[in-house]
Amino acid sequence: MPESQADCLFCKIALKQIKSDIVYEDEFTVAFNDINPQAPVHILIIPKTHYATLDDVDDHGIYTPLFDTIAKIVGMKKLKSDGYRVVANCGSNGGQAVNHIHLHVLGGRPMKWPPG
Ligand code: AMP
Ligand code: ZN
Repeated sequence: MPESQADCLFCKIALKQIKSDIVYEDEFTVAFNDINPQAPVHILIIPKTHYATLDDVDDHGIYTPLFDTIAKIVGMKKLKSDGYRVVANCGSNGGQAVNHIHLHVLGGRPMKWPPG
Protein backbone atom coordinates (compact mmCIF):
# COMPACT_ATOMS: atom_id res chain seq x y z
CA MET A 1 0.00 0.00 0.00
CA PRO A 2 1.53 3.36 -1.02
CA GLU A 3 2.16 6.01 1.65
CA SER A 4 0.37 8.55 -0.52
CA GLN A 5 -1.35 8.63 -3.89
CA ALA A 6 -0.68 11.46 -6.34
CA ASP A 7 -4.28 11.97 -7.46
CA CYS A 8 -5.90 11.77 -4.03
CA LEU A 9 -7.47 14.91 -2.54
CA PHE A 10 -6.90 13.92 1.08
CA CYS A 11 -3.29 12.82 0.43
CA LYS A 12 -2.76 16.30 -1.01
CA ILE A 13 -4.28 17.82 2.14
CA ALA A 14 -2.02 15.65 4.33
CA LEU A 15 1.01 16.75 2.30
CA LYS A 16 -0.14 20.44 2.41
CA GLN A 17 -0.28 20.51 -1.37
CA ILE A 18 -3.89 21.69 -1.02
CA LYS A 19 -4.89 24.21 1.61
CA SER A 20 -7.25 23.05 4.35
CA ASP A 21 -8.28 24.22 7.79
CA ILE A 22 -6.18 21.83 9.88
CA VAL A 23 -7.13 21.71 13.57
CA TYR A 24 -4.78 18.93 14.70
CA GLU A 25 -1.90 16.92 13.26
CA ASP A 26 0.49 14.28 14.52
CA GLU A 27 2.84 11.68 13.03
CA PHE A 28 0.03 9.45 11.75
CA THR A 29 -3.10 11.58 11.38
CA VAL A 30 -4.45 14.94 10.23
CA ALA A 31 -7.74 16.50 11.37
CA PHE A 32 -9.32 19.38 9.47
CA ASN A 33 -12.64 21.19 9.26
CA ASP A 34 -15.06 19.77 6.69
CA ILE A 35 -15.50 22.21 3.81
CA ASN A 36 -19.29 21.65 3.89
CA PRO A 37 -20.08 21.32 7.60
CA GLN A 38 -23.23 19.44 8.62
CA ALA A 39 -23.03 20.46 12.29
CA PRO A 40 -21.42 23.27 14.35
CA VAL A 41 -18.43 20.94 14.74
CA HIS A 42 -17.65 18.83 11.67
CA ILE A 43 -14.09 17.62 11.52
CA LEU A 44 -12.55 14.97 9.28
CA ILE A 45 -9.77 12.76 10.62
CA ILE A 46 -7.55 10.97 8.11
CA PRO A 47 -4.53 8.70 8.32
CA LYS A 48 -1.49 10.11 6.53
CA THR A 49 -1.18 6.75 4.78
CA HIS A 50 -3.49 6.30 1.81
CA TYR A 51 -6.20 3.66 1.98
CA ALA A 52 -9.07 4.17 -0.45
CA THR A 53 -11.81 2.54 1.64
CA LEU A 54 -12.18 0.67 4.93
CA ASP A 55 -12.11 -2.53 2.87
CA ASP A 56 -8.57 -1.75 1.72
CA VAL A 57 -7.06 -1.44 5.19
CA ASP A 58 -4.48 -4.21 5.60
CA ASP A 59 -3.02 -2.98 8.88
CA HIS A 60 -5.56 -2.53 11.65
CA GLY A 61 -2.84 -0.77 13.65
CA ILE A 62 -3.81 2.41 11.79
CA TYR A 63 -7.04 2.59 13.79
CA THR A 64 -5.35 3.27 17.11
CA PRO A 65 -3.93 6.69 16.15
CA LEU A 66 -7.20 7.59 14.40
CA PHE A 67 -9.18 6.89 17.57
CA ASP A 68 -6.57 8.67 19.70
CA THR A 69 -7.15 11.70 17.47
CA ILE A 70 -10.93 11.46 17.98
CA ALA A 71 -10.29 11.75 21.73
CA LYS A 72 -8.07 14.77 21.19
CA ILE A 73 -10.70 16.50 19.02
CA VAL A 74 -13.42 15.71 21.57
CA GLY A 75 -11.32 17.35 24.26
CA MET A 76 -10.31 20.30 22.09
CA LYS A 77 -13.90 21.02 21.01
CA LYS A 78 -15.41 20.21 24.43
CA LEU A 79 -17.81 17.61 23.01
CA LYS A 80 -17.68 15.14 25.88
CA SER A 81 -20.55 16.40 28.04
CA ASP A 82 -23.13 16.81 25.24
CA GLY A 83 -21.94 13.90 23.09
CA TYR A 84 -21.06 13.64 19.44
CA ARG A 85 -21.14 11.28 16.46
CA VAL A 86 -18.33 9.53 14.58
CA VAL A 87 -19.14 8.39 11.02
CA ALA A 88 -17.15 6.36 8.50
CA ASN A 89 -18.80 6.05 5.09
CA CYS A 90 -17.68 3.15 2.90
CA GLY A 91 -18.35 2.66 -0.80
CA SER A 92 -21.32 3.83 -2.86
CA ASN A 93 -24.13 2.63 -0.58
CA GLY A 94 -22.25 4.09 2.36
CA GLY A 95 -22.13 7.47 0.63
CA GLN A 96 -18.35 7.68 0.44
CA ALA A 97 -17.36 10.55 -1.88
CA VAL A 98 -13.62 10.81 -1.22
CA ASN A 99 -11.60 7.64 -1.64
CA HIS A 100 -9.14 8.14 1.21
CA ILE A 101 -10.53 6.80 4.46
CA HIS A 102 -11.75 9.40 6.92
CA LEU A 103 -13.75 9.66 10.10
CA HIS A 104 -16.34 12.42 10.44
CA VAL A 105 -16.60 13.84 13.96
CA LEU A 106 -19.90 15.72 14.28
CA GLY A 107 -21.01 17.66 17.31
CA GLY A 108 -22.67 20.77 18.67
CA ARG A 109 -26.25 19.75 17.90
CA PRO A 110 -28.50 16.71 18.54
CA MET A 111 -28.18 14.04 15.83
CA LYS A 112 -31.09 12.06 14.37
CA TRP A 113 -31.27 8.28 13.91
CA PRO A 114 -31.49 6.49 11.54
CA PRO A 115 -29.21 8.46 9.21
CA GLY A 116 -30.51 9.23 5.74
P1 AMP B 1 -17.62 11.17 2.46
O1 AMP B 1 -18.95 11.36 1.81
O2 AMP B 1 -17.69 10.37 3.73
O3 AMP B 1 -16.56 10.66 1.50
O4 AMP B 1 -17.19 12.62 2.95
C1 AMP B 1 -16.34 13.44 2.24
C2 AMP B 1 -16.32 14.75 2.97
O5 AMP B 1 -15.21 15.50 2.54
C3 AMP B 1 -17.57 15.62 2.75
O6 AMP B 1 -18.19 15.89 4.00
C4 AMP B 1 -17.00 16.87 2.09
O7 AMP B 1 -17.68 18.05 2.50
C5 AMP B 1 -15.57 16.85 2.55
N1 AMP B 1 -14.61 17.54 1.71
C6 AMP B 1 -14.46 17.42 0.36
N2 AMP B 1 -13.45 18.18 -0.08
C7 AMP B 1 -12.93 18.79 1.02
C8 AMP B 1 -11.85 19.70 1.23
N3 AMP B 1 -11.10 20.15 0.21
N4 AMP B 1 -11.62 20.14 2.50
C9 AMP B 1 -12.39 19.71 3.53
N5 AMP B 1 -13.40 18.83 3.39
C10 AMP B 1 -13.68 18.39 2.16
ZN1 ZN C 1 -5.07 9.45 -0.22
